[in-house]
Amino acid sequence: MSGPGDAGIPLLKRHGARVLIAGGGGTGAALAWDLALRGLDVVLAERGEFTSGTTGRHHGQLHCGARYAVGDRSVARECMAETLILRRIIPQAIEYNGGVFVALTDDEAEYADTFLSACLESGIPAREHPPAVARSWEPAINPAAKRTVWVPDGTIDAYRLPLSFLAGAAGLGARLWSFTELESVELSSGRAVSATLRGPDGKRHAESFDALVNAAGAWAGQVGKLAGLDIGITPAPGAMVAVRGRLSDMVVSRLAPPGDGDIIVPQRGLSIIGSTQSRAESPDGILPRPEDVAFLLSRADELVPGFSSAPVHAAWAAARPLAGRAATDAEGRAISRDFQVLDHAADGVRGMFTLIGGKATVLRAMAEKAADAVCAHLGIAEPCRTAELRLPSWRRMFPGMEGRARL
Ligand SMILES: Cc1cc2nc3c(=O)[nH]c(=O)nc-3n(C[C@H](O)[C@H](O)[C@H](O)COP(=O)(O)OP(=O)(O)OC[C@H]3O[C@@H](n4cnc5c(N)ncnc54)[C@H](O)[C@@H]3O)c2cc1C
Repeated sequence: MSGPGDAGIPLLKRHGARVLIAGGGGTGAALAWDLALRGLDVVLAERGEFTSGTTGRHHGQLHCGARYAVGDRSVARECMAETLILRRIIPQAIEYNGGVFVALTDDEAEYADTFLSACLESGIPAREHPPAVARSWEPAINPAAKRTVWVPDGTIDAYRLPLSFLAGAAGLGARLWSFTELESVELSSGRAVSATLRGPDGKRHAESFDALVNAAGAWAGQVGKLAGLDIGITPAPGAMVAVRGRLSDMVVSRLAPPGDGDIIVPQRGLSIIGSTQSRAESPDGILPRPEDVAFLLSRADELVPGFSSAPVHAAWAAARPLAGRAATDAEGRAISRDFQVLDHAADGVRGMFTLIGGKATVLRAMAEKAADAVCAHLGIAEPCRTAELRLPSWRRMFPGMEGRARL
């Protein structure tokens, strides 16, 4: 495996086409890298700091797909495939610590058979081990566990993963602008042709493009409105609580259909329990409610006894960009965790696309599908290479960091 700039990477064929990406979370970052590798002129505008949206506030789980296997085999398969790719292309942002699903009730113990066969059918090498064996690898899990299943879950560094994609794109000439908001989209004869961007100094400028991708996550509905579009998206906030101390080294999950407060992720020297799910009109200003914090801590105690005795480090919330409309929380839960690439030519706006849904684990696959759609629209036949090329260090985003790291 090689990285950009290494000998052996074919020189890029430069295409004149310019793509503007709105949103500098993981999705926009992975897309910038993919399109830059295909030789396009990429401009990315992020209204805050890079990763300041949902990406910088998620749970940090590298999902092998086991959580989704019973309900949605194709999402589970995709997660498994992408974890293998991410572990290869960006090992520096992945802690491959493994996960253990724990059945605590009779119902959960019964569910374990359905869970195991769904995992295996989805290509996830889940293995049941007696609880005593599981506790020998992960002593933190509840001694009352009735059944325990190992899965290839892991932990993601939520910042360094997207920053590495951005570093790769920047190295290929992409222009990446933080604190730059897309304020309006100008149309000409049913085609999106330019946008007004407001930069960090408050000054506005017009940026023309051949294609615009709305990668604004839970804000995608608001960005769509700038072009007169009504995008089917549900911002779905979830709360998380981090306590001090690495109480488990593995990701510990409840062996039950996906619900609230059922995953503990070790993240550096912290342990994070999450999450909840509700709906919000706007993803801005979302805060965890005190009852969410109390609920999450009590659920964490069931998986890892004593969790709530550790000092609380932080409680926060972020909004999932669910692809679909939900009128109730229950409808929100029923929306697939799959992603969608919307070509707004179907809505009367040519040259504009929206990429929503999915999860951080599948950001590369999301970008691949969106880049395929953009390239097809532009008549450019360049294959995706992001699954093969190793990403550069996130340090390349910050001039001087590479040298300092060697001091
Ligand atoms: C509680 C919770 C836990 C999660 N846990 C996990 C997990 O453990 N593992 C996992 O794989 N996934 C997880 N996810 C899902 C994952 O966080 C998201 O799918 C992913 O971060 C979305 O990335 P994004 O780039 O699409 O959106 P974002 O990161 O939100 O990026 C969109 C960006 O667009 C910017 N923006 C908005 N409007 C404009 C504008 N007008 N102009 C310019 N920029 C704009 C925003 O500032 C934002 O930075 C979790 C999500 C939640 C809510």
